[in-house]
Amino acid sequence: MTGYPDSYYAATAVGVRDYAVLQGDRRADVCVIGGGFTGLSTALNLVEQGFDVVLLEAERIGFGASGRCGGLIGSGQRKDALETEEMFGLRLSKELWDFAELAKREIRYRIRTHDIPCDLQSGQLVGIHKQRYLGWAQELADVLADRYAYPFCTVLSAAATRQYVATDAFLGGLYDSEALNLHPLNYTLGIARAAAEAGVRIYESSRVLSYSQTDPARVMTDHGSVSAAFVVLACNGYLGDLEPRVASKMMPINNFMVATEPLGESRARDLINGRFGVHDTRFVVNYFRLSDDHRLLFGGGENYRPGFPADIASFVRPYMLRVFPQLADVAIDCAWGGTLAVTVNRLPHIGKLEPNVFFAQGYSGHGISTATFAGKVIAEAITGTADRFDVFADLPTRVFPGGTWLRYPGMVLGMLYYTIRDRM
Ligand SMILES: Cc1cc2nc3c(=O)[nH]c(=O)nc-3n(C[C@H](O)[C@H](O)[C@H](O)COP(=O)(O)OP(=O)(O)OC[C@H]3O[C@@H](n4cnc5c(N)ncnc54)[C@H](O)[C@@H]3O)c2cc1C
Repeated sequence: MTGYPDSYYAATAVGVRDYAVLQGDRRADVCVIGGGFTGLSTALNLVEQGFDVVLLEAERIGFGASGRCGGLIGSGQRKDALETEEMFGLRLSKELWDFAELAKREIRYRIRTHDIPCDLQSGQLVGIHKQRYLGWAQELADVLADRYAYPFCTVLSAAATRQYVATDAFLGGLYDSEALNLHPLNYTLGIARAAAEAGVRIYESSRVLSYSQTDPARVMTDHGSVSAAFVVLACNGYLGDLEPRVASKMMPINNFMVATEPLGESRARDLINGRFGVHDTRFVVNYFRLSDDHRLLFGGGENYRPGFPADIASFVRPYMLRVFPQLADVAIDCAWGGTLAVTVNRLPHIGKLEPNVFFAQGYSGHGISTATFAGKVIAEAITGTADRFDVFADLPTRVFPGGTWLRYPGMVLGMLYYTIRDRM
């Protein structure tokens, strides 16, 4: 499919539309920059409130992480409830948990309302790879049931975990029956269709080169401009040097996935006993699930520099075989990578740079629900209700040690430390 990287998702995309290139000068209430979960959610929520919205995407809708990711929608934030409680106390931790629950509800609502064919499935297993996480799993399940009114997590023994996933890599598991997974590119394309039908003017191949810090702002592309009362930066790991004021607070990292050849229904079911998603407790996480045509979609391995490995399939394959050595004879049909953004504390970085310039980024690998909700709260803030936006905007964020230039060497060292710790 033109303009998309080769991926299983691009090969099975449904409802791709071509949107025009921005030519000439336009006016709008809001100009959203970036056509992933963040930008599209912002645009759709705004147009539903009667705002006139232009969305500019440098490449294609869903070209970034949103159209390439694992598709796993975990409950809560990227930091679990035990961690957020320790960081912020019970009240704020519960608020963040509830937001994540609302995000799952929003995704379900959007899929239903706009009839988006994105293969939504339920359930998620966390595979525990080290003894010390067994206690963590029990404590988390208990705390979620007792203090967060979330009784849907079950702790599994090693033998029970093996009934779910045919691997010896896990010493136990934590199964969350209310987590979700979906085909992320088809979800993104469906939200874009809904936004366009509601009146958002979407332009593809329209990279924003700069914007003025004025009111109204003037957003410039190669062939046109948009004059808008508000600007929303929704570029995440693909931000580049468009806005140095937020670039130093996140770190773009590359993560990689493969799709195997079709395994056939019975071999696929022997491997994973359902359509739930799985990830492990490693710092550089392995995550996987079955596709509806019985392939294994497996994500593993990342790098911390601009550029992908020349042979992504060979890069990911050893991660896959460590979990599933029984797949040694299986061919990989497709391999791809994407760029996400992490923050120092792994919580999203959402805020305002000027009274009329909003941004959201740094979902740290937990973006499907968080980016969707970020778009919603930015739209709320623009329409005049900033309560939920302020909760996120008040979360602490730190500049990466070394700033924009030296964050990569720092990150490599940090990741090396955690990778060694994972193995010990
Ligand atoms: C391999 C991989 C696996 C992942 N797995 C999961 C998972 O299983 N679950 C989960 O919750 N999260 C996962 N994530 C993270 C998740 O995909 C992201 O957090 C989320 O997609 C971010 O959405 P976004 O809209 O903010 O950014 P993106 O989807 O990256 O969109 C940003 C868009 O901005 C555009 N853009 C950039 N600069 C400009 C410009 N100057 N002008 C115009 N447009 C511009 C880009 O082209 C891009 O399309 C994964 C990420 C990757 C890469």
